[in-house]
Amino acid sequence: MIPLTLTQLADVTSGHLCRIEGLDASTLALNAVSTDSRKIDSGCLFIALKGERFDAHDFVESVVEGGAVALLVDRELDVDCPQVVVDDTRLAMGQLAAWVRQQSRAKIVGLTGSSGKTSVKEMTASILSTRGNTLYTAGNLNNDIGVPLTLFRLTNEYDYAVIEMGANHPNEIAYTTNIVKPQTALVNNLFAAHLAGFGSPEGVARAKGEIYQGIPEEGTAIVNLDSCSDKWQFQPRQTVWYYSLTAQDKADFYPSDIEIKQLTTNFMLHTPVGQVAISLPLPGMHNIANVLAASALAISVGATLEDIRRGLATTKAVPGRLYPVQLSDMKVVLDDTYNANDGSMIAAINVLAKMPGYRILVAGDMGELGDYAQDCHQRVGIAAKNAGLDKVLTVGTLSELISQSSECGEHFAFKKDLLTRLIPLVQQNEVVSILVKGSRSSAMEDVVNALKECF
Ligand code: ATP
Ligand code: UDP
Ligand code: MG
Repeated sequence: MIPLTLTQLADVTSGHLCRIEGLDASTLALNAVSTDSRKIDSGCLFIALKGERFDAHDFVESVVEGGAVALLVDRELDVDCPQVVVDDTRLAMGQLAAWVRQQSRAKIVGLTGSSGKTSVKEMTASILSTRGNTLYTAGNLNNDIGVPLTLFRLTNEYDYAVIEMGANHPNEIAYTTNIVKPQTALVNNLFAAHLAGFGSPEGVARAKGEIYQGIPEEGTAIVNLDSCSDKWQFQPRQTVWYYSLTAQDKADFYPSDIEIKQLTTNFMLHTPVGQVAISLPLPGMHNIANVLAASALAISVGATLEDIRRGLATTKAVPGRLYPVQLSDMKVVLDDTYNANDGSMIAAINVLAKMPGYRILVAGDMGELGDYAQDCHQRVGIAAKNAGLDKVLTVGTLSELISQSSECGEHFAFKKDLLTRLIPLVQQNEVVSILVKGSRSSAMEDVVNALKECF
């Protein structure tokens, strides 16, 4: 972290200093932050957050024993350690993260969207890492706690930062964007993800669009022409770059000469600064869209076409996102079990459609879709039918609609029953490609793990 003193922390959070007898708060340096009593670095600041299960204020004694030198708390606690007392430790954590960000010299890009945030983040980080030290969101730490935790990792060594921002309700992106203050911002796409929290597709568009309000007057907005809202507004001095898979005449970034192989993709990338041949070790048209987004983000902070070519050549599939798991020479699973919405499900089906042999979709329920749940599941089933898949096996409740509308489906209430149907199918066919996907709550990795054990 970029260090600060206890006095500075109290200033930044408008907090009240206490338990500092015999100490000089203006020289007590804080070099790191922890929010988890089980992971304390000596010399760190402990921020006590309240979660669904625990109130971290209950753990401060072990935190102090573990070496924390100061606490950020919402009430003075009877423990021998300097404390900054604030009304709300979660908001104070955001204020501290915003301060750290302001001290940093890194060029920062921020991104949100319904799908592909982590994929675009990894690609952008691969590109920018060819130019300089690049900090990027670890895993999926993309909410009001994860974004500050990411910014705390900034040091003066970093040249770039790529920050993923997620949301399942309105104003969440406004909150994190205001902390991150990215000079370039992207909404990767708009699908029916977390519809229950946003109310409607328009609600999704409005909430994701909050990221564009947070860029500076002369910042850059990156917009996906194939999945955007005409309600979004930009300021006159902002640069707005559009990308599209199809609308070549209107887009600043677009592909041509596309060659989609089973697990790799080659194409010519067109940008405002020229064109470059891309060889991407990832499958699917949706990943070409992700490259357009990542290239635009990277070019906006100085990357060259050569940086993009080199960076993308080493991009790797992210576990759980169309991650190829070879069961044997001729049998492959695309492990896409990390999460699902209708858009990402259809994108993945289109990848499976290009795979060899007997093609099986194994789908679980897609959650958090509110009133749109039935429509979304039906749409996925129709996509499976149109893609000409050989078999669709579903498990759960809502996913029965996928089976029904696919016209080649069988539905199961339990995974063990689905497996007794799936395993013989995989054995009987010499060449097999299986896509396994569902919402996080469906835990479809159970199916992948069972297959790995079997083959
Ligand atoms: P989360 O909201 O859970 O953080 P995310 O937006 O970070 O998700 P990824 O983790 O990159 O997204 O990918 C999630 C799923 O969406 C994967 O199944 C992936 O294959 C699929 N996906 C990735 N990019 C796109 C895209 N541009 N369009 C549709 N689906 C995509
Ligand atoms: N926490 C902790 N020690 C523990 C358990 C929890 O410091 O042994 C912290 C945790 O890191 C988090 C807070 O207490 O900052 C709330 O935890 P909870 O698991 O309830 O949070 P959730 O992630 O469920 O919102
Ligand atoms: Mg993510």
